[in-house]
Amino acid sequence: MSNYVFLGPPGAGKGTMADMLSEQFGFVHVSTGDILREEMASGSELGRQAQQFVNSGHLVTDEVVAAIVSRKLSDPQAALNGVILDGYPRTVKQADLLDGALEENSLTLDAVVLFEVERELLLQRLTARRICRGCGAVYNLLYDPPAEDDVCDRCGVELYQRSDDSEETAKQRLNVYQEQTAPLIDFYERRGQLIRVTGSKEKHKNYKLVQQALGL
Ligand code: AMP
Repeated sequence: MSNYVFLGPPGAGKGTMADMLSEQFGFVHVSTGDILREEMASGSELGRQAQQFVNSGHLVTDEVVAAIVSRKLSDPQAALNGVILDGYPRTVKQADLLDGALEENSLTLDAVVLFEVERELLLQRLTARRICRGCGAVYNLLYDPPAEDDVCDRCGVELYQRSDDSEETAKQRLNVYQEQTAPLIDFYERRGQLIRVTGSKEKHKNYKLVQQALGL
């Protein structure tokens, strides 16, 4: 089975594309952001440690996220179905730790998909994003709105805005991406593993392009 890293700024659509591919092809979708938010909501020790970083738009420490990912990669489902790592790695140190974790679990990295979207559109998407408290469905008030304001089409539960999707924190996250994560573009390009895909089109068009890029 194939294993992929989805790289790109916040709001580029990594999570949406990973969700759609996982649903269609059965990949194990590992989103470090989703896992950290679940830990925060449950009030666990890990969640408490991560909270101040996540809420202020900074990165959680490399060791904490690497431990989460190692656990997911050692799950037998990973080898059976293939994995999409969404939002990990986000630093060169995490990329090094990922190499070790993949090797330990006899997995290989088949490609790194870079989703490219211009900054203005990213900010628009992040600040207009809303999420269902019940099923986690993701909406965008501008591009993919629910039929009824603030209510999920699928389950009728209310929608909320992630605290780090406020304009100020979204800008901070984009800066953190430029400083700490963008160096990974060069890192994976040198290894010949990088595939560039535009993430700036409409959802279903972006999805077709990703599938084409991965030969799925
Ligand atoms: P995301 O849902 O991918 O936008 O991630 C939300 C937040 O979770 C980020 O702004 C970070 O605070 C934290 N986070 C997610 N993934 C990582 C990672 N690989 N390394 C460090 N922090 C992360």
